[in-house]
Amino acid sequence: MALGSPTKIGVVGSGLMGSALARAFAAPGHDVAVWNRTFSKAQAVGGGTVAFENLIEAVSGRTLIVVSLSNYAACFELFSSPGVASALAGKTLVQLTSGSPADARAGLEWAQAHGVDYLDAAILAYPSFVATDYATVFYAGSRSVFDRHVATLQALAKNSIYVDEKIGAAATIDCAILGAYYGGSLALLHAAAMCQAEGLDPKTFFAHKNSFLGLISVTADAAQGMIERNDFAGDQCSLNTHVAAIEHIVRLSQDARLSARFPKELLDNYKRAVSAGLGSQELPAVFRTLTQE
Ligand code: NAP
Repeated sequence: MALGSPTKIGVVGSGLMGSALARAFAAPGHDVAVWNRTFSKAQAVGGGTVAFENLIEAVSGRTLIVVSLSNYAACFELFSSPGVASALAGKTLVQLTSGSPADARAGLEWAQAHGVDYLDAAILAYPSFVATDYATVFYAGSRSVFDRHVATLQALAKNSIYVDEKIGAAATIDCAILGAYYGGSLALLHAAAMCQAEGLDPKTFFAHKNSFLGLISVTADAAQGMIERNDFAGDQCSLNTHVAAIEHIVRLSQDARLSARFPKELLDNYKRAVSAGLGSQELPAVFRTLTQE
């Protein structure tokens, strides 16, 4: 799609993600400068981007700077290099390096001290998803700064979502989604291992994945309502009954000589809720023991 007015963008970092971001901006016709510590990687980005060996030259005359480095420590090291802060002053910096909400707050503090407009962003995508319908980017920070740049930022993901003025909000939702993703992924890999250890083809589990995904979805909806009401009473299945089911999973894992670390950790969490007097409540009552020690 041709652009009415291309934006002058600098993309700092030409790793796997930074390269994909730079090409996604260049594809609809934005004017994209790229910089990377290892210059050869910046030169390899292609897609109509222009590689600079000098960071200050790469960002000079640019309106929007997008940063994608390994971590915040690398960003702060770079921002404190001579001349970099003043080269960024007056521009908008979109921080797409993954981090924690505390990292985002430190980033905003740095930006405010140096006259830089700052958005913290979190991308929920592999590089090959960038610029497709599978990519989502969450943004936090000033609403007016987001509104000023959203049309340009949509080159990365049509699904560009403003979360909140609180600068840590994008990192928070990213950690929340990834925490559920990594936990759920470990659970399904352990499920496949249980099948294999008992001589059942793991395909049998994967063929029934919708039973697992459906239960998670129903539980998420129930948990949302119960957390809102702070009332975990129900008539479906008590925590006591769930604990008995998890004990079977621990026993299967031990009998089949699988690592039982994951189901034991699960059991420990659910039992803690029972010990806290929540045994007759529904499963989401575990939430109470996660928010209180
Ligand atoms: P990557 O391929 O390992 O790239 C890391 C980049 O950081 C490289 O450009 C590297 O430069 C640069 N870097 C590291 N330390 C530096 C320093 N001290 N000074 C200057 N530059 C430094 O990683 P990636 O996959 O692109 O990830 C980049 C960010 O995107 C991370 O925060 C990651 O969590 C996030 N992310 C990635 C994915 C994904 O699927 N890949 C998905 C979501 C979010 P050199 O080339 O010189 O080493």
